[in-house]
Amino acid sequence: MEDCIFCKIVKGEIGSAKIFEDENVFVFLDINPIVKGHCLVVPKKHSEDIFDTDNETLKNVIIVAKDISEKMRNILGSVAVNLVNSSGIEAEQGVSHFHLHILPRYKGDALNMSEWWQSKVLKPTGEELVKIAEEIRVGLN
Ligand code: 5GP
Ligand code: ZN
Repeated sequence: MEDCIFCKIVKGEIGSAKIFEDENVFVFLDINPIVKGHCLVVPKKHSEDIFDTDNETLKNVIIVAKDISEKMRNILGSVAVNLVNSSGIEAEQGVSHFHLHILPRYKGDALNMSEWWQSKVLKPTGEELVKIAEEIRVGLN
């Protein structure tokens, strides 16, 4: 992908604060971090989003994300982690090269995920939840 920023970062054509790379995966700090150590795990092979990414690549990405999240606890003193992926325009994906955000979390840090979770509460009834689950279950078969 010639115009893809993350492909250029992987190839070293654009600079980045790299923290890890192996044969399949490249990890670098987000240029606009929302918490200390905020980084992006990207597959070296270009794919647009999670739907466009093969399962082998997804496994590679999540395994590296787990490993780095775990090690950050010793390195940075984080005590928890949020792993975030946005896939598609409606999910507000900004860069069209599949990536997983690692957000290391610290006791008393300023990030407030609960505000995000509560921003559009649908408040379904128990019955509605059962109906939606049924619809998805049927669709999965
Ligand atoms: P998205 O919204 O697609 O999940 O996140 C894209 C992320 O990529 C954003 O958090 C943004 O700060 C980061 N980003 C965009 N361009 C660059 C870049 O050139 N270098 C780095 N290191 N991060 C970038
Ligand atoms: Zn790319």
